[in-house]
Amino acid sequence: MSVRITIDGKVVEAQEGEALIDVAADNGVYIPSLCYVRGKPCLGTCRVCSVRVNDSVMASCTVPVTDGMEVKVNEPEVTDMRKALVELLFVEGNHNCPSCEKSGRCELQAVGYEVDMMVSRFPYRFPVRKRDHVSKHIFLERDRCIFCQRCVEFIRDKESGQKIFSIDDRGTKASIEIDVELADKMPPEQVREASDLCPVGCIIEKGRGYDEPIGQRKFEIQSVRERALMGDEK
Ligand code: SF4
Ligand code: SF4
Repeated sequence: MSVRITIDGKVVEAQEGEALIDVAADNGVYIPSLCYVRGKPCLGTCRVCSVRVNDSVMASCTVPVTDGMEVKVNEPEVTDMRKALVELLFVEGNHNCPSCEKSGRCELQAVGYEVDMMVSRFPYRFPVRKRDHVSKHIFLERDRCIFCQRCVEFIRDKESGQKIFSIDDRGTKASIEIDVELADKMPPEQVREASDLCPVGCIIEKGRGYDEPIGQRKFEIQSVRERALMGDEK
């Protein structure tokens, strides 16, 4: 059923139940996100796509549209809230973009630019999380993980459907883990998929390194905003 909602004062039409973040993108309104992948089930973990819906702040990937909904994406308070959420993700890990293999194709970095982040207002935590080099094709730079759960939910063993990645422990002790036996069975294209799906430089494909020259990397060719507005599925 077709419904009408208002986004930043503009009336748009959508199908009832569509995800708000998709409806916004289809109508030229960019909402940053780091866990949501269009076409896949919503994870709702990063909250970076928060907007005001009627009088409440909600993660727009989790909101199915209904008739008469009033949405504010670009009002100053929620814009700053999204920026603060991105800043928090940076201070919760260790991010040194100039030396990172994912630089130029990292969604966290690209979204940082989109929300105009220059420096975090929060103190850096400098977590110590050990790198994992054990599996044949992948290493984990654990201190870059933002716990979005994309790898946990969307990368599974082709035969058994079992999860290959998991998150161990909670809070400040949480860490991303890999099932080495299953990971070693991953075909090369699945290793590449996992590495590309990770919105940061945590899942690193061994042997790939800095394979794209500066200036020709993913988000240097087309910004994360443009890709989202085109309905990119990652
Ligand atoms: S993962 Fe992204 S944000 Fe973190 S250091 Fe690498 S490029 Fe920078
Ligand atoms: S490893 Fe990457 S994809 Fe997996 S939870 Fe961490 S940030 Fe997300």
